[in-house]
Amino acid sequence: MTTQDYFERISLVKKYPKYRNNFVNGSWKWLEGRRTDDGAYEYWRVHDKLYDLTKFIERHPGGKTWLELTKGTDITEAFESYHLTQIPKELLKEFFISDAAEPRNYRYTYNENGFYQTLKRRVAEKMENIDSRVTNKSRKCHDFVLIAFIITIIFVNRVESNKAYIFCCVLAGQLLAWLVPISYNFLHKADNWRMYSGNLALQTTRDMRIYHMSHHMYPNTYADLEVSTFEPYIKWIPLLEKGWLYKFHLLFVTIITHFIYFHNLLKMRYFGVFWGSERALYFDELVMWIVPFIMIITGGQAVTQVYFYNIFFKWVHVMICTNIFYVNFFMNRGHHMPDLIHQGDHIKSFDFGEYQISTTSDRIGLNRNIFTNLSYYGEQILHHLFPSIDAALLPQLKSTLIDTCKEFNIELKECSIFQSVIGQYKQMFRTEVKTNGHKKRE
Ligand SMILES: [Zn+2]
Ligand SMILES: [Zn+2]
Repeated sequence: MTTQDYFERISLVKKYPKYRNNFVNGSWKWLEGRRTDDGAYEYWRVHDKLYDLTKFIERHPGGKTWLELTKGTDITEAFESYHLTQIPKELLKEFFISDAAEPRNYRYTYNENGFYQTLKRRVAEKMENIDSRVTNKSRKCHDFVLIAFIITIIFVNRVESNKAYIFCCVLAGQLLAWLVPISYNFLHKADNWRMYSGNLALQTTRDMRIYHMSHHMYPNTYADLEVSTFEPYIKWIPLLEKGWLYKFHLLFVTIITHFIYFHNLLKMRYFGVFWGSERALYFDELVMWIVPFIMIITGGQAVTQVYFYNIFFKWVHVMICTNIFYVNFFMNRGHHMPDLIHQGDHIKSFDFGEYQISTTSDRIGLNRNIFTNLSYYGEQILHHLFPSIDAALLPQLKSTLIDTCKEFNIELKECSIFQSVIGQYKQMFRTEVKTNGHKKRE
């Protein structure tokens, strides 16, 4: 076996994602690539079978968007991790079209007695008797941060002194930086109004569902948009070329990223609209405009051109603060450390659950309460294994995870926040891949 063959063989995603190196490589382009790479034609692929879910779209309990977006792709990972019970499996049979012509593009395994399916059965059992009233806490936490943010942006526009203005901008930025990850808790569920609050930070729910899911399903691989979006400026994948120019610019780039992250997402979205396949705009694109709109209607001044510019710059200031707070945590959220698996590293097991665990580390201190859990990506491992389960319920499933991991001899990684920051920088420089005896030749 040649070195090249070896690295292809150990890759979780077999084909190099079609449009990964394109100038326009936002979520819509990613989906377009999936449609050519997955061999699902105009159907939905689950494992090695094709299904026509057209008639089921309106009835899908998780909302129709998920199925609309994924038509023509392989949805096995989402199907397995979003559905805990056997009911969807039974239902699927009704829509069977044919067996798939080619093997899957993803090497994940879902053996009945393997780690993930065993854990899933146990979690499903536990979920039957779980106290679901605690999910109220997630909703309250979201609503509190949202209201606080709205009140603060009114103050941003109304305070007179410079000091008070800076304070309000920083506070509004921090509140919005909390609100984005909190809204992701609701983004994973059936359509609901809370999932739109993340859109106040220049993103859109539809876009985020694809972007965030690319990461959930194929973390740290070439197919993970949360990795490729930062390239070529920040490279977490060890296989990528990391020359002196890249290393030289890295510090500068990481600082810049703290200012432009959300603006970059917005840019990609509009690139997609103008040059990509996704020409439509959806009503949730309008949500971000609520921020300047609230400032205008509560400002108590006539809307002149100067006043409009004034509001625009205040909005930009708030967004810069949001970027700084958000990126600071987002980049170090426990996925990019040298001891975690990235594209090119030897993968010990392709079991869906085992792979997810090998790419994720929980950060000690963030699993303490519902607020840190929601706003700083706490309980990352459990969230990756069961994305649709509300963050407030995850602590009750922790013992099941720990016991099952012990049984299967799987290590759950934990680190401090400080270690995750240092590890993230080390990962940006890492070029050595973890091998299983095979050395990579340059
Ligand atoms: Zn993640
Ligand atoms: Zn998520």
